[in-house]
Amino acid sequence: MAELDTTKLLAARYRAATDRPYLASALYALTVVPSDEVPTMGVDRHWRCYVSPGFVDRTPVAELAAVWVHEVAHLLRDHHGRADLLPAADRRDRHRVNVAQDCEINDDLVADGLPLPAGRLEPRLFGLPEGQLFEAYLTELPRSTWIHDCGSGAHGEPSPWESGATSGPPGVGGVEAESLRHHTAEAMRAHVRARGTLPGGWKRWADEVLEPTVDWRQVLAGAVREAAAWAAGAVDYTYRRPARRSTALRGVVLPSLRRPLPRVAVVIDTSGSMGDEEIAAALAEVTGVLREVGIRGNRVTVLACDADVRAVSRVTSAEQIALAGGGGTDMRVGIAAALAVRERPSVVVVLTDGLTPWPDEIPSCRIVAALVGPSAPAAPAWVETVRVTN
Ligand SMILES: [Zn+2]
Repeated sequence: MAELDTTKLLAARYRAATDRPYLASALYALTVVPSDEVPTMGVDRHWRCYVSPGFVDRTPVAELAAVWVHEVAHLLRDHHGRADLLPAADRRDRHRVNVAQDCEINDDLVADGLPLPAGRLEPRLFGLPEGQLFEAYLTELPRSTWIHDCGSGAHGEPSPWESGATSGPPGVGGVEAESLRHHTAEAMRAHVRARGTLPGGWKRWADEVLEPTVDWRQVLAGAVREAAAWAAGAVDYTYRRPARRSTALRGVVLPSLRRPLPRVAVVIDTSGSMGDEEIAAALAEVTGVLREVGIRGNRVTVLACDADVRAVSRVTSAEQIALAGGGGTDMRVGIAAALAVRERPSVVVVLTDGLTPWPDEIPSCRIVAALVGPSAPAAPAWVETVRVTN
């Protein structure tokens, strides 16, 4: 391996930390790992920073300082943690995810006057607006064969040049990473109070870390997706012998990849205390996720329910649901109706304002409740709860 010019690399980190002191703790938490395989610099999930000696040699200190900030931004913004929450189809193309993440970072860094090396990726290269999160850029980026890899600290998948979780120098654990994020956000606020300036992207990030506003759509989609995956794995998870002619696998028993798709019931509270719009939004989110994971048609049943189950119907849009208006709510009736069929659902999603009694016994299925409205009473602990508020 070519020898790494550590003096130059660390001088660049010193410059980055001196110019933007609020990033100092995070920058100094990174462990340097020299590597001939990494094209420039990259980070893994454990805050280890892989550095190409050749890249350090040919890059001026000011640009190296900007790259330090770029790498630590992937980790502070928890890009790998957020990538883990993407739908599987999006997560598969790690390079495309990485391009979207670089767009999220680099527009702020350029606005902040950091001289990133040539070839940097920015939203304007794709005709996209600045100041968005990578999840938004990802939906806008053209389908293409991207090659762009900042490491598992960015897109979440281990890159060939990484040490792996159990080898290499010790890194930063999840709890420590969270505290570094919190500390950095606090330092940014203190910086704004003292100097009055902070790039807009960092300002929004610090606000989100210190006062998180979680989008219920994302949480509900995640809960439904996870419950469906759990149900798909729990049903008939049989081991089958592979075909005899696959000699490379002789004697090895693989888990069958063909599992039956789970059935899902959606029970909707139509007692009238919930608004049309909220029901429509929550139902759209649930059916969207179910479609995305391939659960559709007769595998999804939607029941409208107040004190009585009025109708059992397969609905695809909220207009088909008639609000009963007034009356009490008893979602126990709806859950019981959902389970009183020959082919029982393994997941029941309940959309309710929470003003309902819940079953005394834990049913033999997963229950995800979307509690609509800011003052909805809590559900029992065994119900997975997502609060829907606008
Ligand atoms: Zn990057």
